[in-house]
This record gives sequence, structure tokens and C-alpha cells, in this order.
Amino acid sequence: MNTHFSEFLLPDALMRGLANEGYTTPTPVQAQVIPLAMDGVDLLVSAATGSGKTAAFLLPIMQRFIDVPRHDGSTRALILVPTRELARQIHIHFMRLGSYTRLTSGVITGGESKAHQIATLRKNPEILVATPGRLLEFLETGQANLRDLEFLVLDEADRMLDMGFADDVLAIIRYSRPERQSLLFSATLEQRGLSQITERLLRDPQRVDVDPVRQQHPDIAHCMLLSDGLEHKQQQLLWLLRHETYEKALIFTNTREGAVALGNFLQGQQQRVAVLHGELDQRERNRVMGLLHSGRVNTLIATDLAARGIDVPGVQRVFNFDLPRRGDDYLHRTGRTGRAGEAGVAISLVGPPEWNRMESIARYLNLTFEPREIEGLKASFKGPTKRNKPSKPAATSGKRKSTAAAEEKPRKKERLRDRKNIGKRRVPTSAKAQEAGHAPLTRRAREHAKPDAD
Ligand code: AMP
Repeated sequence: MNTHFSEFLLPDALMRGLANEGYTTPTPVQAQVIPLAMDGVDLLVSAATGSGKTAAFLLPIMQRFIDVPRHDGSTRALILVPTRELARQIHIHFMRLGSYTRLTSGVITGGESKAHQIATLRKNPEILVATPGRLLEFLETGQANLRDLEFLVLDEADRMLDMGFADDVLAIIRYSRPERQSLLFSATLEQRGLSQITERLLRDPQRVDVDPVRQQHPDIAHCMLLSDGLEHKQQQLLWLLRHETYEKALIFTNTREGAVALGNFLQGQQQRVAVLHGELDQRERNRVMGLLHSGRVNTLIATDLAARGIDVPGVQRVFNFDLPRRGDDYLHRTGRTGRAGEAGVAISLVGPPEWNRMESIARYLNLTFEPREIEGLKASFKGPTKRNKPSKPAATSGKRKSTAAAEEKPRKKERLRDRKNIGKRRVPTSAKAQEAGHAPLTRRAREHAKPDAD
């Protein structure tokens, strides 16, 4: 799409903000969302992290507020997000794009001082960026009100549901003015429970699908390295950190314990790494992010939840020390590199128990993992094909063969169907859903998630 921002006839102040940011061409999600949102349409948008979705919703909101100013002190736009980090980033994005305007925004999230946030609310910013839990508290006490709301944006709605915020979001919708315009963004629109929210939130929504892999991240190479187990993975990762060329790298583990253990190992090997996980308090998280932004460390080890919403420029490598359990998490993790046109590389270490998951992710996201090996650190595990190959045809092979063929067939069928449905995103069921990344978090995982969110 060869659109230019000037085609949207944005106010001068916003064009100057865009020029300052160095944005010339809208990303695909911006090209589709901005004109529709400016026309007042409710939108249901599938867009991944790194797609430029923040400016896609901020620009139409800011345009309206500049063109139709109001000085009655009411909240005119609410942007609901799952995590503090994402809230802060949207706020920063807003301040940069709006640096030539008089528009103001405030951040309301858990984990920060309430007194400070009450003072923010008293200043009556037009735009609030908030996580659901804390905002709901302020709505219940009457310290915040959404009676004059013009825009309600739900960002990363899939995550919001995963983290158990559905009821809070529905309650917030009830507090808001029904005549508002609503925009919902989600990495996937097939999330279980999403329809409950879309029905209450959106009126005659228009759907915008921006294919996450092919359109959002054309500049990411997806590689995999076979591994034999934990210690082998540590050695391989250490080699990669020492030999790959990058400004900054992110390493993902599936558990907080895993992140801490890996951090200790790499620090012991004189690597400049820091660890971000859900149990750090806000001050500690800010300190860790500061270390990375300032370049004092060049590598961050994180869990999915802890890394939610962080946007660090210059991340050229994403390492999956553990393969994520959901396809969407793979998308979010690797979306940290190759942002807005920069080239990036995602390298996944795949041990024997992770082989099937790797295949599911490749199928779900329609991507191919490029195999890599490190001389001297090759895995003896070569994938299941070789290992499971029968050493010699058994005497009963006729019978065995037919069983094997029967087992093989549906798998092949499924793949064909998957290929046919690329872009249609059916709701996967049961086990496939688990593998593909649609299954909701277990209660334990949600509890684990909560402190990270709000
Ligand atoms: P987002 O998906 O909104 O988090 O944006 C991902 C990254 O892309 C951020 O670092 C933005 O600053 C950057 N970005 C967003 N829109 C554009 C654009 N039109 N041109 C260049 N970079 C952009």
C-alpha cells in the first residue's frame, strides 16, 4: 500500500509529530484503520505487537480532539490495556506524537501510587490509558467518570481475556457513554470469550484483518536449533550471545524460575544480562528496563507476561530458550524484533519434548523454521523422524502399516485444511487449540499472571 500520512488530511500539529518520529508511510494496520476510525466506524482489528497499531488508534482520536475541542474537563478517550508497561508505552507514544498539540493524557494502572493517580485524574486529561482493575476502583468511588466518553479502545484484548479481565472490562463498558466509538485490537480475533466483549462494546463493527506473520513481520528470519536438554541449551545460547552480532537481544523462558536460573548462569559467564519477571515490583522493573534502555545491559531475559508491551528499539535478536506454549505467544515474542522495517532474527532452541510444539507453531503461523547448527555444539537429537523410524520392517508390518496409515491420514488432512484456511482463522478445538495457542490460561497460570498485570 503506497499511502502517505498526508492523505489522511491530519492537522498540521500531528503531521509535525509524525515527522519528528520519522514516520513517513503508514504501516498496513495504520493505512486500514485510520480512515475508517476517522469516519466514526466501530472496528474489530486483528493486529499484532509491532504492527504500528498504537498510532493507528491514537491519530484518529487526536485528530478529532484537535478539530472538535472541548474544555469541560471530561475524559474523552479511554485506552484499556492489559499491563502497566503497555500503558506507559502508549502514554509515551502519545506524548511524542502529540508534542505539538495541547492534548493531555494520564496513566491509571495498578502497582503505582493511588494518590498520584487521583491527582492525575483531577487534572482532567482528555485521554486516559489504563489497566482495568485500578480504573474500575476509581469508577466505583466516583473519582473517575466516563459519562462523556467519545472513544473506547481495547488494546491487546486477547491478553486482557487471558489475564482474567473480562468482567472488569464489561463493568467498565457499562460505566461508559453508550454513544461512544469503540475500537478493539487483538492479535487474534478467535479468542474464546471475545464475542461476549465485542457484543457489548461494538456497534456494527467493521473487521480489519492484517495478517500477523506475512504483513506485520516481513523482516524476521525464524530459525531453530535442536538441543539435547537444559545444559546443552545453556551452552548453545552462550555461544550465540558471544558470536551473533546485535545491539540488543531478548531471551524468553516459560517460567520465572527458568528466567532467574538462566540469568544467574549467563551473569556467571560475564554476559551483560538482566532479568524481568512478574514478581519484581514496579521500581525494580523500571530499573531493569532502564538498564536495557541505557545499554548498561544488552540482553534481557523475560517471561511472556513480564515482557508484555515492552518496546525496546534496536532488538535484533529474540531467543526462545523455551519454546512458548502458545502460537500467539511466539508471535508476541518475536514481534519484539524486526519492528517497523528493521531486520530481526528469532532463534528457538528446540529440545526433544518441544518438537511437536515447534511444528504446531509453524503450522499455526504458516512459517518455516530455518534449521541452524553450531559446530561443536550439535545436538544428538535430530527430530523424531529418524529416531522413530522402524529399524527393520516387522513381520507384522502389513497390519502395523495400516494402523500407521490410519494415524497419519487425519494429520495430513488437518494440514491441508490449515493451509486452505490460512487467513480465515477457524476456532481450533480441544488439543489442537491447546497446541495452536488459543487455549485460555489455567487458573494457576492466571494467578501467576495477575501480579504482573495490575
Ligand atoms: P506498535 O505496534 O504501535 O507498538 O509500534 C511498533 C513500532 O513501530 C514502534 O516502535 C513505533 O514507533 C514504530 N512505528 C509505528 N508506526 C510507524 C510508521 N508508520 N513508520 C515507522 N515506524 C512506525
